[in-house]
Amino acid sequence: MDIVKPLVVSEKLSILRSLYKRSVLTQQDQLYYYQNLEKGFEGERRFDQLIRKLPMDGLLLSDLNYETNHSNVQIDKILITQDTIDLFEIKNLEGDYYYEEERWLSSTKTEITNPLHQLRRGESLFKRIIPHIDTSFRFNAHLIFVNPEFHLYHSPHEPQIIYPTQLNRYLNTLQMRHSKINNKQRKLANRLRSLCIKAPLKNVPEYSYEKLKKGIICPVCDSFLHSLVGRKLECSHCEHKEDVTSAVMRNVEEFKLLFPNLKITTGVIHEWCNIDASRKTILRILSKHYNRVGNSNGTYYVHH
Ligand SMILES: [Zn+2]
Repeated sequence: MDIVKPLVVSEKLSILRSLYKRSVLTQQDQLYYYQNLEKGFEGERRFDQLIRKLPMDGLLLSDLNYETNHSNVQIDKILITQDTIDLFEIKNLEGDYYYEEERWLSSTKTEITNPLHQLRRGESLFKRIIPHIDTSFRFNAHLIFVNPEFHLYHSPHEPQIIYPTQLNRYLNTLQMRHSKINNKQRKLANRLRSLCIKAPLKNVPEYSYEKLKKGIICPVCDSFLHSLVGRKLECSHCEHKEDVTSAVMRNVEEFKLLFPNLKITTGVIHEWCNIDASRKTILRILSKHYNRVGNSNGTYYVHH
């Protein structure tokens, strides 16, 4: 299996992770939304691990966002084999669910977004893109439930759905498929990748610089890095050590992700890092790794 477009943490999930660690997701619905995103990502990762192991000739693409007729569509995964395109919508639901009159209900009888409708919407929008690229491929779309703890009562008899207990068998049929990859398939994969747009950033809770907890987050345990020993920052919780330059740079990147419109100045970054380092240390790091714009009071930094 050839990974043409790998699975990466989306911008939205990166922002929410940061907001969560910096204690601003306080409302229950925001927390719930964030945890669902994490869970969704975990599900995609799980499916990735299974499918990339298959000894077969295929091209795999993850997280594809398209715009067609003013509608956005996000597709979790596309597999290209010799003469087939497979579209996958991955779900990591866990626990008991109920299917009643085309409605999907959780164990507390709360209705959830119908995943089959979601799949079909993605499928139909995607089918508008394909004719412009190549019409000689067969096309399948599947809704994959990856969590072995998922159960759907009164589940519909629907060949597009792969339940956890069917997943291994389904993957087996995939790998039995006769497939040889050459330029034709690669061209299609590259075209599908090049047509992708940046995922629209919606449903991110409002936040402000003032309300975020300042500091540098430990990459190992998510506590805040505190004590500066020589040129190393040490985590007081797990004792992980990191060079102060790389830690500050990491924090500047996080700042840029959260506040793309704010200027990077020594004063702001000094406060944002909240470590026991002088402004001079911060200044040294910024001027070494970023370009200086303006002078005296108005100085700020941009990427090289
Ligand atoms: Zn730590």
